[in-house]
Amino acid sequence: MRTETLDILRCPYCGWHFELDPSHFHQRSGDEIVNGVLACLCCNLPVIDGIPVMHLQEDATLALDHMKAQRPDRARRTMFGLESDTQAERFDAVAESATSTYRDTVEALGPNFEGGYFLYRFTDPTYLVAQAVVHAVASTVLGPSTRSGGGGGPRAIDICGGSGHVTRTLLDLTGAPPVLADLYFAKIWLARRFTAPGCEPVCCDGNAPMPFARGAFTFAMCTDAFMYIWTKRQFVGEMERLIDTSSRGSQSRPPGAALIGHAHNERTWSPSHGQPLPPEGYAHLFEMLEPRIFGELGLFADIVGGGPLDLSRCDDQATLDANPALTIVASRDPRVFAAHSLPQVPAQAAGELRLNPLYAQEPVGERVRLRLTFPSADYEEEYGACRQYLPEELTIEPSTMAALRTGRVSGEIADLLRRKVIVDLPTRYY
Ligand SMILES: [Zn+2]
Repeated sequence: MRTETLDILRCPYCGWHFELDPSHFHQRSGDEIVNGVLACLCCNLPVIDGIPVMHLQEDATLALDHMKAQRPDRARRTMFGLESDTQAERFDAVAESATSTYRDTVEALGPNFEGGYFLYRFTDPTYLVAQAVVHAVASTVLGPSTRSGGGGGPRAIDICGGSGHVTRTLLDLTGAPPVLADLYFAKIWLARRFTAPGCEPVCCDGNAPMPFARGAFTFAMCTDAFMYIWTKRQFVGEMERLIDTSSRGSQSRPPGAALIGHAHNERTWSPSHGQPLPPEGYAHLFEMLEPRIFGELGLFADIVGGGPLDLSRCDDQATLDANPALTIVASRDPRVFAAHSLPQVPAQAAGELRLNPLYAQEPVGERVRLRLTFPSADYEEEYGACRQYLPEELTIEPSTMAALRTGRVSGEIADLLRRKVIVDLPTRYY
C-alpha cells in the first residue's frame, strides 16, 4: 500500500487513524508499506503483501500473529486460504513467475476459489451496463483526469469490487489510484496484479463500518454485490459518509456521487437472487441524498442502440417492478442526470486485443470462421442477452487477425471492438 493511503484509512471499530507500528516486524519499499502491523486506539491490523487487512475475521487474526512472528509468507498463505504446504508452494511458484496469467493464478488458488465465468466477464450484458453507467457518473463528478497530479485530486472507490473488473473502468479517471475494497484478499490481490493494475486494494468487510475517513472520496460505487450485503442500511449510510465533504471545508469541491449497480429486484426473480429489496426499499436506505432508480433493461437498450445512455429518464413504478436488476444513483450534481454519450473506442488497446472467448474458431482456408458458443446452459440463461450485440456467426480475414496482434485500433478492429467480437482484455488475462 502507498504510505499516503494512511491519510484516508480509519479503524472500522474505533474510528481512529492508523500508524505503522515500528516495534513490530515491517518491510517498506520506497513509498510503499509491503508488510507490517498497523495500530489505532483499539487494535492491531496487518498489512500483508501491500494490502491492509481491516477486519478481525479468523484468517486475519491468524495472519496478524504470523506477521508479528516475522513470517509474512505464512500471513499471505493464510489470507489466500491455502491449506496444505503443497498447495501453497504451487501457488507461490505461479505468483512469482512473470509470465503467469490471471487464469493460471485462479487455477493455482484451487477448486474452492470461485473463478466462475471470469473469461467472459468483460463482454457480458451486466458488465456492459456497469461499465457504461460507472463511466458516465464517475467521469462527471470526478472531472477531467489529473493523472499526473499525484494523490491530491478526487478519489474513487469500488466497494465489494471482487477481482476488479469494474474497477478497471476507473483507472483513467483519477490522479489518485482508485481504491478497491473487498473481503476476499485473493480477489483484490489478483485485481492489483492483472485486472486493475495500479488500484489500491483494501481488504475489509462490507457488513461492517467502512475503514475510511468521512469525505475521503468523490465517487463511491458497488456493483453486482449489494443484494448479498445483510447490513444494507449501514452500507448505504457509509457510502453517503464516504462522499460527504460538507463538514471538511471542501465547499469548492463539486458534490460527489454514490452508485449501486446491478442490485437484484425483490419483485422479479433473477439467477443468484441474493436478499434483494423492492425498488422503494432501496430508495428508503438513503438518508442524506435522494437517489434515482433505473431499470437496467432500459440502460442496456441504450447501450445496444449505440447510446446515448439516458440518465435523465424517470422510470415509473411498473417499469421498475418488472426489471430483474436496478441501478441506483444518488448525487446532488444535476449534470449526472442527463444523457451521456458512450465512451469512444480508444486508438490503442489498454491491454491485449483478443477474440471474444465466447467464439469457437474454425479455419476456412486463410480465414477464420467464428461461431457463438456458450460455455453452459446456465451461462446462456443468465447472459443470453449478449445475442443482441454478438453475431451468431462471422468470418474474419487474415489481415484482421494480423492487425489484432499490433494492439492498434483502426478500421475493422474498431468496429469489432464496438460489437464486442474483439475484447480489450487485461495483459496476461488468459
Ligand atoms: Zn481501532
